[in-house]
Amino acid sequence: MRAIRGATTVLKDEPQEICAAVGELLNTIVQKNALRKEEIVYILFSNTSDIRSMYPAKAAREAGFSFCALFSAQEPQIDGALVLCIRVMVVAEGAGNVSHAYLRGAADLRRDLNKFAIALDGPSGSGKSTVAKQLARELDILYLDTGAMYRACALKLKKEGVECSNEARVASVIGGIDLRIEYRGGAQRTVLDGVDVSEEIRRPEVSMAASAVSALGCVREKMVEMQRKIASEQSCVLDGRDIGTVVLPDAAFKFFVTASVSVRARRRYGELTAKGYAVDLAELEKEIEERDRNDSSRAISPLRRAEDAELIDTSAMTVEEVVALIRRRIREKV
Ligand code: C5P
Repeated sequence: MRAIRGATTVLKDEPQEICAAVGELLNTIVQKNALRKEEIVYILFSNTSDIRSMYPAKAAREAGFSFCALFSAQEPQIDGALVLCIRVMVVAEGAGNVSHAYLRGAADLRRDLNKFAIALDGPSGSGKSTVAKQLARELDILYLDTGAMYRACALKLKKEGVECSNEARVASVIGGIDLRIEYRGGAQRTVLDGVDVSEEIRRPEVSMAASAVSALGCVREKMVEMQRKIASEQSCVLDGRDIGTVVLPDAAFKFFVTASVSVRARRRYGELTAKGYAVDLAELEKEIEERDRNDSSRAISPLRRAEDAELIDTSAMTVEEVVALIRRRIREKV
């Protein structure tokens, strides 16, 4: 016998909502476990006491699960527990691995089961970091800005007076780099040698240096190792150039976010002038083209779209539209 667990939540205590949520939960369990109907022996439900308009077992019958024994129980009211929640145990014949399903608000109960990564790659100024930050906020998952890590490497080498051409020195300095990614108030802080350099690494001269530094194999190796470790511990959205191709080729969701050079230059111009930097739009456009060339033509992990990444051209899209598109894709799969 196999016992498969699951849970879901509803927004309102209404029969239609309960039927839809129970149907979705049971169908997900059936699909994830490749169950045949005849294999299900019985299904136990327990719901929080704020669900009063429909028994989940009745909802299951209405959703087409009328071929096995069904039973609903009510859970005691527990302070601070999830509200409007329906839990389920599907008992089926056969042996083997089981795949539990925690959907909607109940995904929070078993974050370990629903761990997923979103890879957002694309050139600078494509809007991917703004999108990544908003996605992370809305989905309540971690955002990892991998560009910040290469920027921190560039800053470190600059401070140590190491030229990129001196690969041996670069390898030794980056090999022992004290780089930590911390989160304060939900925002990523980049901490180098114990100092918060989150602002300093945004300086335009660091951008160009990061592009050069990130072409070096020893730097990439070290950063990719750190990125994989962070991504293995929780659900997250990572933005960069090689996330879908190299860092997390098996990421559940992959997108390649781009926009025309002029749109990207205008965005960067807005960002930098808002921070008080005196920059020239035409200069920025040239710089962006040069960085694109560097990033796309380098031998190791060049900027390119993974074959299975969805292309999103954000030239004429708002951040909200891009976020909504990605969230739709996630809803279709998770
Ligand atoms: O994204 P951002 O502009 O902050 O990245 C700075 C530089 O770091 C990029 O120009 C790129 O060369 C490099 N980078 C990279 N791989 C990543 C992220 C950034 O090579 N995953």
